[in-house]
Amino acid sequence: MTRILVDLDDTIADWSSRYDSALNRTQGAENIPRSHQHESFDLTTGRTPAEKKIIHAIMAEHSFYAELQPITGAIRALQEMVMDGHEVFLVTSPWVSNPTCASDKLRWVEDHLGTEWSRRTIITSDKTMIRGDVLFDDKGEITGIATPTWTQILVSQPHNRHTEGLVRLRGWFNWREAVMEALK
Ligand SMILES: [Mg+2]
Repeated sequence: MTRILVDLDDTIADWSSRYDSALNRTQGAENIPRSHQHESFDLTTGRTPAEKKIIHAIMAEHSFYAELQPITGAIRALQEMVMDGHEVFLVTSPWVSNPTCASDKLRWVEDHLGTEWSRRTIITSDKTMIRGDVLFDDKGEITGIATPTWTQILVSQPHNRHTEGLVRLRGWFNWREAVMEALK
């Protein structure tokens, strides 16, 4: 049995689309890069103070994290993992300046996967502390105080297009091959 850890934002929940649509309806956000233009995980590099303020306001929106759409194939992949006999946990870091982020994340899991899965959701700012065999995550460099027990599978997103050296997931239909490759 393999213990599989799965991130939420931009791994199974479409954070980027929600972020882009918030920018599209905000005045003064015209020059803020949209998610397909992101070159790194950091949203505020190179932005003016006014633009940074817009970004932080969007990130702090109530219900932002509860209203994300699932990424294509992700829900089915999670169910397949369980059916295949794996132990699966969702592991997500909260945006701490958003007062409803942590509870919104649990609500999202409840809405799209059900209570059984909200009990399998771990909210932590340090994913290296969580033990597992593989971690599906879109963040290129995951650091923390511990040495991870898991091998990361990088979920492809525009912002990580320059990251090398990790097994990549280019679509959820391919999750089994990615796990096999990562554990080789
Ligand atoms: Mg993520």
